[in-house]
Amino acid sequence: MTRSTTKTKKATRRGPSAQAAQERDTKIAALHAQIAEGVEALVESGAWKAMLDTAARFHTYSLGNQMLIALQAPTATRVAGFRTWQALGRQVRKGETGIAILAPCTYRPKTETPDNNAEPPAATGPTTTSGEDSPTPARRQLRGFRTAHVFAQEQTDGDDLPTLGDTPATGTVPAGLWDALTSQVSAHGYTVQRGDCGTADGYTDPATKTVRVTGTTDDAEAIGVLAHELAHIECGHVDDLPTYRTCRGRCEVEAESVAYIIATAHGLDSDTSTFGYITGWAHGDVATVRAAAETVTTAARTILTRLDENGTDTGPQKYPANNDA
Ligand SMILES: [Zn+2]
Repeated sequence: MTRSTTKTKKATRRGPSAQAAQERDTKIAALHAQIAEGVEALVESGAWKAMLDTAARFHTYSLGNQMLIALQAPTATRVAGFRTWQALGRQVRKGETGIAILAPCTYRPKTETPDNNAEPPAATGPTTTSGEDSPTPARRQLRGFRTAHVFAQEQTDGDDLPTLGDTPATGTVPAGLWDALTSQVSAHGYTVQRGDCGTADGYTDPATKTVRVTGTTDDAEAIGVLAHELAHIECGHVDDLPTYRTCRGRCEVEAESVAYIIATAHGLDSDTSTFGYITGWAHGDVATVRAAAETVTTAARTILTRLDENGTDTGPQKYPANNDA
C-alpha cells in the first residue's frame, strides 16, 4: 500500500534529526563532565590560582565556561563569538574549530518565549568577552543548555583591535579605579575611610557601615585592600555575622580570591600566598571548593562588569596620589 510507503519515508527522514539530537545531548553531557573534572581538580595544588587567572581574563563567562575555555584554548587571551569578531572587523579563519561552551537556554514563565537563538557571547568588555551567560535578567528561568562556540583572537584575521586600556603596565594603578571601587562600596551603603586600622590592612564593620583601608600602603596595595573589603560585602559575608565569624577561613579565601581577580584583570600584581591555603581549608572537599569557586567568580563578575560599565578602564595612567610615583 502506498500509504505505508509514505509513512516509512517520513520515518527515515526523521532518523538523521533524531540522531543529531542525540549527538547534541552527548556533546552537552561531555562538556558538563569536563567542567566537573575541572572542579575536582581545583583541590589540587596550583589549580585554584590557575582558575583565578582564567577568571581575570574571562570574567564575563560562568565558572563552567571559564573552565571549558581554559581547557580547550589554554593560551587564549580573548575569545568571542563568530559574529562578534565580524563586528570588530575580524574574520574567523576557514577551518578553525570553535571552542565549545555551554549557553543557557532560558525562558520567561507565563510568556513562554524561548531564548535559545542568541548568538554566542559577544565581545564588549575590556577582555572582549561579554558572554550571554553574564547575569541573566531577572525572572528568566533556565530550561537547559545548548552548545555554543567561541573563537580565540589567534583564530581570526583582520583589523587590529582597539586598545581598550584594560591591560596597563603591571603595577600601574588605572586612573579612576579607586573611585570606581569606592562608589561600589557606597552603593552598598558603606562609607570608605583611609587611616589607621591597627594591625590589619583594612576591615569592614557592618555595625557602623564603614570600610576602612590603612593609610600607610601604596596605591596598588590600597586597591587590593579595598577590593578585598568590597568582596566581603559582595559575597554576603557581612550580612550574617555569626557565619562571618565561624567561617572566617572560607570568607578570607573568597575575599582574597575576588581581590586577586580584580587586581589581575587590571594588570596589578597581587599576593598569591593565600592560595596555598585553599587545599588545607577545604580539606579536599569538592563540593566545598565548587561552592567557593562559584561565589568567587560570581562576585568578581559582578564587580568587574560594573567597572566596565562605568568606563573605569581608561588606560595606563598613574593614579594621582600614587606614592611610588
Ligand atoms: Zn577579610
